[in-house]
Amino acid sequence: MTAQVIDGKAFAAGLRSRVATVVSGLMASHGLQPGLAVVLVGSDPASEIYVRSKAKQTVEAGMASFEHRLPETTTQEELLALVHQLNNDPKVHGILVQLPLPRQISEEAVINAIDPEKDVDGFHVINAGRLATGQAAMVPCTPLGCLMLLKDTLGDLSGKTAVVIGRSNIVGKPMAQLLLGESCTVTIAHSRTKDLPSVVRQADIVVAAVGRPNMVKGDWIKPGAAVIDVGINRIPAPEKGEGATRVVGDVDYAEVAEVAGAVTPVPGGVGPMTIACLLRNATVAACRQAGLPDPEGL
Ligand code: NAD
Repeated sequence: MTAQVIDGKAFAAGLRSRVATVVSGLMASHGLQPGLAVVLVGSDPASEIYVRSKAKQTVEAGMASFEHRLPETTTQEELLALVHQLNNDPKVHGILVQLPLPRQISEEAVINAIDPEKDVDGFHVINAGRLATGQAAMVPCTPLGCLMLLKDTLGDLSGKTAVVIGRSNIVGKPMAQLLLGESCTVTIAHSRTKDLPSVVRQADIVVAAVGRPNMVKGDWIKPGAAVIDVGINRIPAPEKGEGATRVVGDVDYAEVAEVAGAVTPVPGGVGPMTIACLLRNATVAACRQAGLPDPEGL
């Protein structure tokens, strides 16, 4: 079998364009321009790249982008003061504090200081609780993007067996909640799971969010399963020259593509969905804060 390639890049472009249409409608009908504030503390090179592309795509969608860059030496009190200021700014509908934060700052304290209605990353404990109890939540962007790709590829997910590999608060756990919400039978596997290959082999849907290059092998996969690869791992690429690197997922793509029914590539699969879902969440947040219904088609 040769798997269908799930084109996250194309799906994300479509979602961004639907967001832009909703944004221009909100501006025309209600004078409402969704605004997203992104806070970067320090100068981690990967975070710099993310923040730059988030700001660029925010502006391209017609939304207001507010960038706040603070030095590595920022104290927790200073960052919390900025979060409070953004919580009270009516032009800001979504607040994203780029992780990781320098070690003198508690990520938990900062995330939980964000107004849950503006928590477009969906990491606040209130939003985690809402998701777990089936209430309208801000849903973390990466698992939301994975779910969109799965529904687009498979249609109704009800009754399917799903294995999520990884139990982080930002990917694994919310992914499992979303799949449960779609009436899948969900297993969460992690670093202590025994005989992971045979657990994964039960699954109609596999989501790998581990951070280990090419870990999931072809003979772990039930023929025809849908495989979503969240991993972003930089490995040496001597074929591209000395010191060169390339990005691979958690899934051994060449092997898995021979067995699976559908698979996301890395890059070009889940990655582009994350920012598209961030723009989507900020637009939904703006509507909710304005007392409007959630926009259709997002
Ligand atoms: P994390 O380190 O917080 O969690 C990794 C999880 O993998 C843990 O729950 C751990 O139990 C599990 N694990 C580790 N080794 C294992 C093993 N041998 N067998 C089974 N499970 C094992 O990571 P995270 O933040 O959830 O990110 C996971 C991956 O997804 C990383 O590669 C990260 O870069 C990537 N990621 C991508 C996006 C995106 O936009 N595409 C967003 C977030 C994270």
